[in-house]
Amino acid sequence: MIQKAILVLAFLLCTFFLASQEVNDPVIGSQQLAIVPFDYALDSSHQSIADIDTGFFVSPFSIKKFIEEVSYGKATIEGQVYDYRINQPPLFGQGYTNCFPIDDVIANQPDVDYSIIDNIVLMVHDTVSKSCAAGNSSFGRLPFTTSDGSFNFRRSGFRTQFYTPHEFSGISNSTVAHELLHSFGISYHSNSYIMKDGEFDIQAYGNLFDIMGLRSQASHPCALIKEQKGWLTDNEIRRVQGSDTLRIFPLEKTLPGQTQCVVIDLPNELDLQPNDELRFSKIYIEYRGLTGFDQRSIRRVQLNDGSNYTIDDPHGALIYGIDCQLNDDFCLPVLLDMHPEPMGGIGTSYLPHEASDAQLLINESYSVPNMDLNIEVINVVPGEYIEVVIDMGLVSAVEDTHLSDLQVYPNPAHDVIHVSGMGDTEIQTQIYNANGKLVLTGHNSRRIDISVLRPGTYLVEVIDSSTGKKSVQKIVVSR
Ligand SMILES: [Zn+2]
Repeated sequence: MIQKAILVLAFLLCTFFLASQEVNDPVIGSQQLAIVPFDYALDSSHQSIADIDTGFFVSPFSIKKFIEEVSYGKATIEGQVYDYRINQPPLFGQGYTNCFPIDDVIANQPDVDYSIIDNIVLMVHDTVSKSCAAGNSSFGRLPFTTSDGSFNFRRSGFRTQFYTPHEFSGISNSTVAHELLHSFGISYHSNSYIMKDGEFDIQAYGNLFDIMGLRSQASHPCALIKEQKGWLTDNEIRRVQGSDTLRIFPLEKTLPGQTQCVVIDLPNELDLQPNDELRFSKIYIEYRGLTGFDQRSIRRVQLNDGSNYTIDDPHGALIYGIDCQLNDDFCLPVLLDMHPEPMGGIGTSYLPHEASDAQLLINESYSVPNMDLNIEVINVVPGEYIEVVIDMGLVSAVEDTHLSDLQVYPNPAHDVIHVSGMGDTEIQTQIYNANGKLVLTGHNSRRIDISVLRPGTYLVEVIDSSTGKKSVQKIVVSR
């Protein structure tokens, strides 16, 4: 899957290799980098040491500023950019060594103090045309036998065209940030579903809002990654047990103690699609604002037909499911569809990437199929917060009062509902939203226009005017 993604995507290429350490472990405090440039081309066109230093440590959009912003100041990078290495062994070998220096070269640079570094960062200036990834990284620390002894440190590499001549403000910024996060132990991308050839497929890249996904400028990793790295704590993560109305603040801002992520623990692992092996045990909700590095996003993704899909208003709630059973080492975040219709609902006609492009904004909701869970956005203050109503377990709560004769149909409903089974008696109808607010009333009408209702879950309460007897039925409004 990764190889496929590399072929498809021209600008955020990435390969990596496995390491067992640091996956899901926190990364807190100062990370010491040795940034070691290699010049294999000797064509006088390599980026200057000063420019690389500016890109990593000095620029307003430096990698250091990025790490500090996304970690809420809990992690930072320090270190030094060394002089260019020339006359090194040629780049021929297996795997990543085809495009980057081999481990013996990495571990035997006399001026590098291996005893103090957390990361080695290889900047490779090379004009040889090869099918090389722009960057690659270890997952966490690898053991190296160095000239100073044996040490474990992380390893990232970048090829010439992806770090020069930018001032780390564009593609290179995103690639370097992406790879550094891999090196911190993040072994996955922000995968998303797409509909492809009539079946659901997992897209290795695909979340427009996430640096581990499809972005061409630096942006924040999702809340799951921030939680794993120790940057988002239980003070900012709200775990929801039942129906609730919540205000979620932008993931990008440093807001200790404010809810920046909502986690719904599902009562059982949820199979959302028959065409894949994913089973979701949690659902995460976060709000992406228009602040910080995320504000600088290129709001455009390329569709499978080569056309571009532009996002003019790149903020909104993100909802993703967490699968922990496919790989024992890590839990995989998979972006869920965010339009009113549930993923895979009847009549869906997703564009490739649509699930990843969509942002959940006001009046939109996400319903989990085959489970009594609906998430609806009821208020948005752009860049400040979003308010969502989480509606869980309505069916079981109302079944007891559901009189056998009442029928409200169709369900799901679109513009009109019909009430039957009450005979000719005079009735009053009251429709409540998931938050319990009365949103519509009807007097003695068996046909009720609901076109004003936003997609979501509602309770229809029908009262027999002569007896005062009430019955309630849940409906889902979708369009
Ligand atoms: Zn990657």
